[in-house]
Amino acid sequence: MALAIPYGHMRTAVSGGYAARGRDGIHQLLDIETARATADTLTTLHDDLARGVGISGPAARRAIHAATQAPAFAGSIRTHRQARDILGNPALTVYDDPRSLLMCVYNRDRALCHRLDADDAPRLDRCRPSCANIARTDRHADELVQHAQMLEKQAASEAVPDPLADRLTRRADHLRGLADRHNNDRIHSQEPTA
Ligand code: SF4
Repeated sequence: MALAIPYGHMRTAVSGGYAARGRDGIHQLLDIETARATADTLTTLHDDLARGVGISGPAARRAIHAATQAPAFAGSIRTHRQARDILGNPALTVYDDPRSLLMCVYNRDRALCHRLDADDAPRLDRCRPSCANIARTDRHADELVQHAQMLEKQAASEAVPDPLADRLTRRADHLRGLADRHNNDRIHSQEPTA
């Protein structure tokens, strides 16, 4: 899955680093790995939603819809054509981003990260917190709180200078705010999606 996380960034990087002949092969491999990562993300989301996990964010309902299709292609992606079919289907392109602790439910027209790039792929390394493609599950909210706790522990250390401790505390407060917002706004897949 890690191979596919900075998908748009990786495409740009390999475009600059390989001759054209080799680049096509690398891009096909990236497409297959990205499609498999997407299938894994959707399968996990499908299973989480089925056991009552909540989801929030402007793209939450689109994520729920995408997850309903996960069983159809789980474990079946072997060719570049199969990968392109998934990556070209805007109803399926969901990317987990462990660094930002969110899911990108990618819709090019709503994306805030890549408008100047030629590739039709999200730039998770440039993810913007106000993007309409963001969704979070209880899993992400738990990780936000865990990360906040770690920062608060660091800030409390006597070895940490005050300015740095303040920054760590502000960051922890921000992450806790995101988790609180998730807990307030979350919905469940059994709720009407119309
Ligand atoms: S800015 Fe939007 S489209 Fe880009 S990676 Fe973040 S959620 Fe996805």
